[in-house]
Amino acid sequence: MSRIDLHLHTTHSDGSFSPREVLEFAKRANVTALAITDHDITTGIPDATATGQELGIEVIPGVEISSRFGESELHMLGYFLRWTDPTLNQRMASLRESRHTRNPRIIQRLNDLGIDITYGEVRALAGTESVGRPHIARVLMEKKVVTSAKEAFDRFLADGRPAYVERELPEPAEAVRWIREAGGVAVLAHPTWVRTSAEGLATLIRQLKDYGLGGMEVHYSTHTPSQTSEYLDLAKRYGLLVTGGSDFHGVTKPDIEVGIGRGELKVSEKLLDPLRKAATAS
Ligand code: AMP
Ligand code: ZN
Ligand code: FE
Ligand code: FE
Repeated sequence: MSRIDLHLHTTHSDGSFSPREVLEFAKRANVTALAITDHDITTGIPDATATGQELGIEVIPGVEISSRFGESELHMLGYFLRWTDPTLNQRMASLRESRHTRNPRIIQRLNDLGIDITYGEVRALAGTESVGRPHIARVLMEKKVVTSAKEAFDRFLADGRPAYVERELPEPAEAVRWIREAGGVAVLAHPTWVRTSAEGLATLIRQLKDYGLGGMEVHYSTHTPSQTSEYLDLAKRYGLLVTGGSDFHGVTKPDIEVGIGRGELKVSEKLLDPLRKAATAS
């Protein structure tokens, strides 16, 4: 049974597998098309595309842009965008810069809690400019401070925990605009993580539609069947395209696999063409 996966992370951001390795997992899961959606960076796309040509998998250029919605983060996926666009790249560079402003402050808080860790160690493990909390979690795992990334987030790194530090982020509408200006389709990522009521979510979608929001990630590894149908209804009501993906990261989310999430994920190939057309039209 073939399927697609439109949400995947690699070593170019906070995933633990290279684009080639991710594509090899995808091949085994009968994934026929996929999007690499690294956080605030698109440098994984050439390697993924070349490997895709070798393995017979279509690689769609993608990205996951961080933004701020009230007190919490909101992620915006971009698809079929001109990922080499200079303006887009300047904007993504500013987001990566805000990571380098925040991360040493997280490290300082961990040090204050008596944990021996340096930002140099984190940067060395990350090996990319898009350094995220999952990299810090992995260093904490290597140092045996925690036994899982989940524990690192629950004890230290999650919003509201003692080592959490906010970073400067654009508004969700800005993220939509950035993606649109690079010719892409903007898709609201994992609505389950948007911290608001059902009404709040509907209001947000209406507002973002005015800025050109094109779709919503209805199918997602951790969405329950009732959430999936709720989001499907919302997408229909507001005329949004439906997308889906696993949000595979490798070792920091060990229960999630490429193409199948926790086993139940199945994203249809039929969702791809409408998305492709929406990008060409923008
Ligand atoms: P950052 O980009 O540095 O703000 O880190 C946020 C990223 O951490 C998210 O995009 C997820 O990939 C990851 N993340 C958030 N919460 C958890 C968690 N509880 N366990 C593992 N990874 C998480
Ligand atoms: Zn991530
Ligand atoms: Fe995300
Ligand atoms: Fe993601």
